[in-house]
Amino acid sequence: MVDWTSLEEKWRQRWHTEKQFESDPDAKKKFFVTVAYPYPNSPQHIGHGRTYTLADVHARFMRMMGYNVLFPMGFHYTGTPILGMARRVQENDKELIETFRTLYKVPEVKIREFSEPVKIADYFHQEIKTGMIEMGYSIDWRREFTTIDPVYNKFIEWQFRKLKEKNLVIQGTHPVGWCPKDQNPVSQHDTQGDVEPSFTEYTIIKFKYDNYILPTATLRPETIFGVTNLWINPNVTYDIVKVDNESWIISSECVTKLEFLNKKINRIGKIIGEDLVGKKVKVPERNDEIFVLPATFVKSGNGTGIVMSVPAHAPFDYQALQDLKNNAINYPNLPVITNIKPISIIETEGYSEIPAQDVVKNFQIDDQNNPKLEEATKELYAKEFYGGKLKQNTGKFAKKIVSEAKEEVKNWILASGNADILYELNDTPVKCRCGAECVVKLLDNQWFLNYSNREWKEKAHAWLKEMKIIPEEIRNEFNNVVDWLHERACARQHGLGTKLPWDKNWIIESLSDSVIYMAYYVIAKYVNNKEITADNVSDAFFDYIFLERGDPKKISSDYKIKLDVLEKIKNEFQYFYPVDARHSGRDLVPNHLTFFIFTHLVIFPRKYWPEEIVVNGSVMMEGKKMSKSMGNIIPLRDAIRTHGADSIRLTILISAELLQDADFNQEAVRGIKNKLESMLDDCTKYKPSKNIDLLQEDRWILSRLQQMIAKTTYSMQKMRLREALHYVLYELESDLQWYLKRVEAKKRTDFSGIMHEIFSTRVAMLSPFAPYVSEEIWSKLKNSGLVSQSSWPIPIENKIDFKSIQSENLLKLTLDDIKNIIKVTKISPKKITIYAAASWKVKAYRQILSKVTAGEVNIGALIKSLISDKDTGEVKKDPDFVKKTVNDILSESQEERESKIKVEFIDERKVLSELDSLIQSEFGIPLQAFAESDQNKYDPKNKARAARPYKPAILIE
Ligand SMILES: [Zn+2]
Repeated sequence: MVDWTSLEEKWRQRWHTEKQFESDPDAKKKFFVTVAYPYPNSPQHIGHGRTYTLADVHARFMRMMGYNVLFPMGFHYTGTPILGMARRVQENDKELIETFRTLYKVPEVKIREFSEPVKIADYFHQEIKTGMIEMGYSIDWRREFTTIDPVYNKFIEWQFRKLKEKNLVIQGTHPVGWCPKDQNPVSQHDTQGDVEPSFTEYTIIKFKYDNYILPTATLRPETIFGVTNLWINPNVTYDIVKVDNESWIISSECVTKLEFLNKKINRIGKIIGEDLVGKKVKVPERNDEIFVLPATFVKSGNGTGIVMSVPAHAPFDYQALQDLKNNAINYPNLPVITNIKPISIIETEGYSEIPAQDVVKNFQIDDQNNPKLEEATKELYAKEFYGGKLKQNTGKFAKKIVSEAKEEVKNWILASGNADILYELNDTPVKCRCGAECVVKLLDNQWFLNYSNREWKEKAHAWLKEMKIIPEEIRNEFNNVVDWLHERACARQHGLGTKLPWDKNWIIESLSDSVIYMAYYVIAKYVNNKEITADNVSDAFFDYIFLERGDPKKISSDYKIKLDVLEKIKNEFQYFYPVDARHSGRDLVPNHLTFFIFTHLVIFPRKYWPEEIVVNGSVMMEGKKMSKSMGNIIPLRDAIRTHGADSIRLTILISAELLQDADFNQEAVRGIKNKLESMLDDCTKYKPSKNIDLLQEDRWILSRLQQMIAKTTYSMQKMRLREALHYVLYELESDLQWYLKRVEAKKRTDFSGIMHEIFSTRVAMLSPFAPYVSEEIWSKLKNSGLVSQSSWPIPIENKIDFKSIQSENLLKLTLDDIKNIIKVTKISPKKITIYAAASWKVKAYRQILSKVTAGEVNIGALIKSLISDKDTGEVKKDPDFVKKTVNDILSESQEERESKIKVEFIDERKVLSELDSLIQSEFGIPLQAFAESDQNKYDPKNKARAARPYKPAILIE
């Protein structure tokens, strides 16, 4: 049994006393890795462990690649959730206090202090930090800070003044996600389930009925020209309300939405939908009237609760109209319905006159409540939006592309007062952490970051093209976010954080004070070692450090900061910046990671813009989503105590590549732990030794080692860590087993040095993943220094002996064939004879191989050309050989074929005679190998002639 706790503690101490992960500028090339800092309102669980572990593996790998790696960490106190928790503690909230007590295991005296928000943050800050140290993260802790430190506040003030100078912080009235209970804007940090509230803009179009307005909300204002009727739900009771000076008839849900959009509303009365069926309304901008008709697909919670019907282009409308026509007999008062015809207004390639009819048919829909209508609508909308053109019947918009016409039509109707705007929250319900349901609110005179700024967006797109995004498949998601981002409320009325420098009633919110703080890690070191305090820093200070602007002598004397300290900080910033890799979970793509790009581009000069972003998916627990309600959240430190840090790191990383969900399960973690323990056990068996004469199997295993180094290094550079781990742990392992089988069969005792070399290389490649056990193995192998400070193995191509690789493959495959034959025929063998192909076959094989690899597989032509060559002329006695050989080659991978091309010649008879020791040790019987051409061979069954290169003939008696 391995005592993991003390093993890990031992190496942690060593790293700490030797200051292994503290990095300062030096002559080496730098690599700056950062991860989104944690929000300390609870302990970390296994899920958080993934992102930080990925970043740590990256940091450790780059360190071994020879870089001066900086991997720092801070703590994000900003925002309202901690405030809310403190309030709940003050109110003696039983559920929350129970969570602290039993799940988070907070000591009773600490819980009592939690009525003060900062105490909560401080407690979990220390808890998370201790967990990170226990996980073995190679962090430079001298650079730690929190976002309520006074110097950090000054840094954020500087950031905001810079943005304001550039007109990117603006005051205005814009829609935001909003908690009606807290009276505060909400973002991802404030919602249950960490949902970033997003919303969609709809155009309200006002249809006049008598003195009333029946408004409809649409995403497609351009389809006003194709409206044939309105839909109303006959079973819904609608509100009659005064909106400004008009009387609207809308659903009661819509009334609430409009109130948050600052409409002055007076409720006048109610009317049931049924009473409006059959009424006539005027279509704005069109000199005609249409009917209000009944439809059950209309939901009171969507839009206004009334829908304009465009049956030619909207599948819902088309199907509802069909349903109505099919049931016309039930509506004797509405003879008109049989006369309603779709009005086609958009022309799109691939669709008929009535595109909605096409998709309804394709999706086999025959009822307006069919859920497939959503999908059909999406498909048609996308096609028409990008590829559709408006027809002649759209007046001055004729011939315009839908994507352009949409805004123009909207503005045209708005200008005449016949339209309005409605915002709807997406993916409702979105709940605030306080429990209230969020809404969209039009916020007056708030401070916004102007992510709508076109120039800013273009800059972000342009830099995204240059950046490395890992994995590549997520790049487009970033581009989409840049496109849809709009004005974003950047301040709150309460919460922890930095006050808006020009309006101290506001506090900068958490997704706005966390976008360029990576630059602050340089400064934090000097704050922590007390070389500077808040009194020494100012905008002039930051301008000098980050932008090299201003007169250092003047700054030095104005703010009482030593000139050499100022220079040191500036040089250190210039050395470590830009960020070389930013790691984060996928959930931060739509906000933090994109803001991080945006803000760097306008604050810093180009040489300091971020180089790379690495995005990862989440962690499942035994195949299920982790959540408090499922009761399957395991605090990280509990898991470390149970399994050890290395096992947790490997279990998370080996179960998935970056974007996939990783899975943490007990079986996997136990398997990994056993594996590590057996590696620890094995390594003591081998000692370094001086060179021996290398045999075939030695050349093979050393070649395989080189191949494995090359493959692993490539995967590491692409951050395909699951794949890399697979090579190091499993593929190399199966090679080692074959090698040991070979040397043991030969009863060799001289291979310890080779095993030692392989183990040392392997553990070096394992060390970024499992740093503790790797140090232990490295030292047991009596290698000098720490493995975490050793060099990453470099693959040496010319150390790969392809001949030995092919020879060993030949042995493995032949042995498998023999075993199969024995299994299938169920004979108990007395002796085995093997025949290697004749030399004309080998020559023919090489020719066939090069032809097939070049893409020529015409058997007839191959036979012809082989017969005409005197070296291979014997093909005419055995033309079948060509076809079989072509099939042999085609069934192999490209890599395998290329490897064979590199091999000049293998004496197969000699290689196959190596099987003797293996067969002896496994079956206790002799094996003899002959060449097909051998005159004196033992061949009673005339088997030899069936031999082909890499496919010897086998006789078992
Ligand atoms: Zn709330």
